[in-house]
Formats: sequence, C-alpha cells, structure tokens
Amino acid sequence: MKRLLTLLLCALLSLPLGGCAPKAETRTTFAMDTFMTFTVYGGDEDTLAALTALPGRLDKLLSVTQEDSEVYALNHSNGQPVSVSEDTAALLEAAAALHTRTDGALDITLYPVVRAWGFTTDSHQVPTREELNALLPLVNGSAVTLENDAVTLPEGMELDFGAIAKGYAGKVCAQLLRDAGITSAILSLGGNVQTVGAKPDGSPWQVAVQAPSGEEGDTVGTLSIVDKAAVTSGGYQRYFEADGTRYCHIIDPATGLPVDNDLLSVTIVGDDGAVCDGLSTALYVMGLEEALDFWRANRDFEALLMDTDHNLWVTAGLAGDFTPAENSIYTTIIVEE
Ligand code: AMP
Ligand code: MG
Repeated sequence: MKRLLTLLLCALLSLPLGGCAPKAETRTTFAMDTFMTFTVYGGDEDTLAALTALPGRLDKLLSVTQEDSEVYALNHSNGQPVSVSEDTAALLEAAAALHTRTDGALDITLYPVVRAWGFTTDSHQVPTREELNALLPLVNGSAVTLENDAVTLPEGMELDFGAIAKGYAGKVCAQLLRDAGITSAILSLGGNVQTVGAKPDGSPWQVAVQAPSGEEGDTVGTLSIVDKAAVTSGGYQRYFEADGTRYCHIIDPATGLPVDNDLLSVTIVGDDGAVCDGLSTALYVMGLEEALDFWRANRDFEALLMDTDHNLWVTAGLAGDFTPAENSIYTTIIVEE
C-alpha cells in the first residue's frame, strides 16, 4: 500500500514537471579563434542574443591583432598608462594572482616568446637560443601594474590573454545566464566547458575528456560536473614539427621553450572558469610531480592529469565523477593526498 502511494505521488509530481520542462536552445558563435556552442534551457531571445554576442565583445577588447583592441593599445603603449575596461582589468587581476600562485608558470607577458616560435601567425619556426635569451628579460608577469583602471606595461613588454581568455569568457557567459534566472546550461568554448547548474532533470552534465591521439571524438572517459567549469590544456591541441621534433604551443616561461615533459594533458575542474583555464596551462608547464604537489598544497580545484605512461591521475574530489572509457588503454590512479 505504501509503495502504491509512493508510486502515485511520484506520478502526480512528475506530470506538471515533465509538462513544463524548459526547452533546449542551442546557439553557436566563432570568437577567440574557436567555435563555441551554447546549449541553454529556458532562455528568452534577448538573453540568448546577449550570450552569443559576449565572446565576440571580449575578443574585441583582448585581440592582439585588432588595432582597436585594448590589448593592442597596451602592447603599443611604450610604457605609458592605458585605461582599460572592467573585463580587461578583471583578467589582469586574475592573471597576476595566478602568476604569483603558480610561481610564474602562467605568465601573460610571454607573448614575445610565443611570437618568436610563430604561434601567433601559424608560420612556425624554431628560434635560436640567442634570440630567446634576448626575449626572456621581457617576460615578467609581476611587472604589469594596475591602478584603478590604468594599466602600465613596461616598455618593450607585450601581453596576451590566450591562456585564460576562453575560461574567463565562459565564466562571464555563465554569470549572464544566472543573472537572467537560467539554472541549466552547458557552454563549450573550444577546450573549455562551462556549466550552469545541472541538466534539467537534475542529473550532472557529462563532459568528455579527449584522448591526445588527436582523433576527433576519441575520448579517455567522461567527467560528471554540476555548475562548474572543466578546462583542458594539452600539447596535442596545437603544435608543429621541425626536424623530427614536436613543438607545442604551451611554453615554459623559465626557459622560453615549448613544454616537453611527462604530461600529455591537464584538465582542471573548478568554480571559476578563468582560474581553471590559467591553472590548466600552468600545471601543464609544471609537469606531473609538481602539478600534483600544487594540488595537494591548494585543494581549491580538482584535476585530471594524463601522463606519457598512459596513466590518468584523478584527484580525490573527482574520483566519483570520472568514468573511464570502455577498453581504455589508460590506467586510472586516484590521488588521495
Ligand atoms: P591554453 O590553451 O589555455 O593552455 O593556453 C595556451 C596559449 O597561451 C598559447 O597558445 C599561448 O598563446 C599562450 N601561452 C603559452 N604558454 C603560456 C604560459 N606559460 N603562460 C601564459 N600563456 C601561455
Ligand atoms: Mg589555459
């Protein structure tokens, strides 16, 4: 009898819920050099239009090549202060905090070095040690100052937000949706995923973790996440080959050389998309041991680290949220402490 009553109650409760489940709306845009797909449950046209326009608006502020962008103005400021928007100021603050926190592994002033390797134009080249030595003194994330809305970049230095911009865009897009009362959405911005709440039925979003083999759709497993960002950085995402050597787009600010260590990719799961994005790049630079030590010392994010020995190191807080792909060649190792 009790079971019957429970069943009846469930049936009654599910009727109106099922009847007014919000409709999924999908929008796509191209900004920050990547395709973005937004799936939102229950948004009105104005909200969806504002959401779709947001990454392009940020791109206009942050582009290193568009001559009317704030970053372009900064990179051509000859040491003079430049007034910037709230978004650029927020990104600078986030980048400065991450630069300190990661002991310089994330450094947005790496731009002259990134350019020397040709990653800014896709006409790749291997610079000489002398060229890199001449550029490294211009790499110093702690030399950028922000006073009120005025940024000063010392003469000769240049910056680019490539390592955190998409994560920041995801974060502000999610905020826009939350402010509009949306409680369920998944936003994909290149290798960055940002979720708002859970799926409309209350179950977590499933985010695939890509295999570094480069084959589209080839995944090592899925992460279940609710109301968080999941951001992946990996050498396989962008690289070039010269004389049999592979050079990836993530560079160690200490040496000016593309990262070549025991990691294939780093996925960070956390509340703040910009922080996740910055940390995924920085932990990739650190290598496995240092990255795990960084997690142990901080514990305000979770990580999945893929190493060159086919191990997937999954930090304790993600242990129950990671499902390895069937027949995966990777071994999952849970990092408890
Ligand atoms: P991500 O894909 O988020 O890991 O960011 C990589 C991009 O950020 C590269 O394409 C470079 O433009 C830039 N970058 C590379 N290495 C670093 C670094 N160590 N710190 C900050 N930016 C970097
Ligand atoms: Mg990043």
